[in-house]
Amino acid sequence: MIYLDNNATTRVDPMVLETMLPFLQGEYGNASSGSTFAKPAKKALAKARVQVAALLGCQPEEILFTSGGTESLNTALFSATQLHTDRRHLVIGSTEHSAVLKPVAWLEKRQGYEVTRLPVDSLGRVDLDELATAIRPGRTAAIALMWANNETGVISPVPEAAALAEAHGIPFITDAVQAAGKILLSLEGLGIHSLAISGHKFHAPKGIGALYVNRHFPFKPWMLGGAQENNRRAGTENTAGIAGLGAAAELALHHLRGHAGSGEGSGAESVRQLRDRFETEALRRIPGAHLNGDPVRRIPNTSSLRFDGVQAEGLILLLDQRGICVSAGSACTAGSLDPSPVLTAMGLDAVAARSTVRFSFSRLTTADEVDQVLDGLEKSVVKFRSLFPAEGLNG
Ligand code: PLP
Repeated sequence: MIYLDNNATTRVDPMVLETMLPFLQGEYGNASSGSTFAKPAKKALAKARVQVAALLGCQPEEILFTSGGTESLNTALFSATQLHTDRRHLVIGSTEHSAVLKPVAWLEKRQGYEVTRLPVDSLGRVDLDELATAIRPGRTAAIALMWANNETGVISPVPEAAALAEAHGIPFITDAVQAAGKILLSLEGLGIHSLAISGHKFHAPKGIGALYVNRHFPFKPWMLGGAQENNRRAGTENTAGIAGLGAAAELALHHLRGHAGSGEGSGAESVRQLRDRFETEALRRIPGAHLNGDPVRRIPNTSSLRFDGVQAEGLILLLDQRGICVSAGSACTAGSLDPSPVLTAMGLDAVAARSTVRFSFSRLTTADEVDQVLDGLEKSVVKFRSLFPAEGLNG
């Protein structure tokens, strides 16, 4: 099987698994207990905090371990709205993940918040002037803008947006689930209030993630209970997951800095080169193929392509029969009959949005796999069009 669905989830790196195993076997002490037996668990947490902070370019005490991106984002939104209960307005990007869209819709419907959803242009980019206009001084409780989009890979101007938010004293939240481990991040001094990451997007297991909380800003915890994570996230720590997250962060940083990855790639540029070669060839070989999103300001592993006269669901099945795993977009909206809200926000009509397939690479993807996918994709598109000529070329 050739796996090009790494924005949905990634393979656990064998070195990550190795780091985790002792904590699922003999070293099962509770990291928050004072016993000698718990010391390895406690040390593993401290080490992982340093490793994750290094990946994000922040301080270890700014890292809270969570169950993943969704929890981190819900926590960040909860914290921001609790910090200023008199502020009843939120600004978010219109192409955010459902882990932001849904809690914000709940705040809107059930709590009476007013929400400004920033539009994007045809390349999926938000406009900083529109953000500046959307801000209501003294009334905006939070701004949430994702760092990189999960469907198109388009990167938002997060440092500039965070600076704007900070100038108005507004907590700035960013979903870096698809950015962390794919581009170098350096949070120190950016004025971001909180930032979410998820381990399973960069070769750690599912169900572990982190929330960065800027040490210069106040924070209100969401999960209440025990005193774990310095009273900021209650619940017995997932020691094995946290150790794995730390190891995955270290490997990702090593890779991003240009060293050989644990796969066949040799540094961050190798993923970009594979993706670019795939994309250039796919667009050249397949008539009626188009790229979605900003071709330049993009994370290096993502290619969102649409094929005239093709329905993504059918094409994905044909690729699946050839042992190629890709998806139409967000795993969280898979199965929905509605066209992707991300692509429709970019101005694509429903037919064009439904003809889109996302190819997402990782440092474990090989050049040989790319060649096989190009071959399989070309044949599958031809086959789809011959099976369903009525779909026609929809321009
Ligand atoms: N944000 C983005 C951009 C994502 O792609 C995802 C996962 O699909 C999430 C948030 C949710 O992360 P998790 O699966 O760790 O809850």
